[in-house]
Amino acid sequence: VFVSAAVASILHADLDAFFASVEQRDDPQLRGRPVIVGPGVVLAASYEARAFGVRSAMGGRRAHELCPDAIVVAPRFSTYVRASRAVFAILDAAAPTVEHVSIDEAFLDVRGLEAISGSPAEIARRLRARVRQEVGLPLSVGVATTKHLAKVASGAAKPDGLLVIAAGDEQAFLHPLPVQRLWGVGAATAQRLRAHGIVTVGQLAALPEELVMGMVGRAAGRRLHALAHNRDPRPVRAGRGRRSVGSQRALGRGRRSPEALDAVAIALVDRVTRRMRAGARLGRTVVLRLRFGDFSRASRSRTMARPTAATAPILTVVRSLLAAERETIERRGLTLLGVTVTNLESSVTGAQLELPLDGHDPAALDTTVDAIRDRFGTSAISRARLLQAGDRAAPWRQPGDEG
Ligand SMILES: [Mg+2]
Repeated sequence: VFVSAAVASILHADLDAFFASVEQRDDPQLRGRPVIVGPGVVLAASYEARAFGVRSAMGGRRAHELCPDAIVVAPRFSTYVRASRAVFAILDAAAPTVEHVSIDEAFLDVRGLEAISGSPAEIARRLRARVRQEVGLPLSVGVATTKHLAKVASGAAKPDGLLVIAAGDEQAFLHPLPVQRLWGVGAATAQRLRAHGIVTVGQLAALPEELVMGMVGRAAGRRLHALAHNRDPRPVRAGRGRRSVGSQRALGRGRRSPEALDAVAIALVDRVTRRMRAGARLGRTVVLRLRFGDFSRASRSRTMARPTAATAPILTVVRSLLAAERETIERRGLTLLGVTVTNLESSVTGAQLELPLDGHDPAALDTTVDAIRDRFGTSAISRARLLQAGDRAAPWRQPGDEG
């Protein structure tokens, strides 16, 4: 049994080349020209630059080789955040159920709005026009019966397009596409499938599920088989979505100095806040979880005056909660430390960002670090404190991570 709307009424709205488009919007001289938001790693490339093969995550030197005439501009994160908020205000007004995926991407469920707002295609057309007129940015929209297919459709609609996959047309659209277009198929999975002669989604869909699981593993195989048949049970979830974001780390039985514990705390907070920012979530309550050497457990929490996803204020709370437990930790030993942020809300709808958005913007540091890690992996950049403590940023992928 799977959930699939009878009518194609799930929208995936995605801003095109977001950072680069904002730069072109604000500087007429950049319009129609190859623009790279850098410097150094390519954070975004305009479609004119992409025509030369420039891609996000590419090194600056390689990008320059491919497109020596590209104009490289420094990122202006607070401007991007403002633009994102303006776009989300338009999206939020268009449907009762809007799921914020990231700073430039959302799902909308427009089921049952026909009488008030028109067909899903009409709603999508109006959204694109409003975002263009009121925020000055190109928004591509895919419309389909499932989230997965809506996202594939918005990708196929780019740049600045709208693509509606009507109910019943799903297989005809999906099957000729390369398997890489399916959610979760990266280079490694694609290569494994190619070794079995599977290149298109249609070839994959023709195989029994067991065979696919044999090629790529049980969980991935089950998912790919379902997606190839456009089975995606995930509903669009309104704004709030996840209730908490947390991470924990087992410490073993050896004693740790306060400095070493602080390094662990920094790593955990870094990990948690990064995921909050990636999901456009702010949180108010910080929970510290402790397991002591005698297997007893404790959790301590504090609620902040205002919600945030910034590393610094959350780290400050974690440090003070940890300091209050110092005596117990020294007496019993500490075998596990966890940090969870709860009371989450969307960062784009209700809440004000707690940091000033103009002038010197400390949030830009977090965002830059996130961008670099997104491109190069989590170990590409670390805090000097972690290196000094001899504790690399490696333990990010903890089995104890929530959600
Ligand atoms: Mg985008």
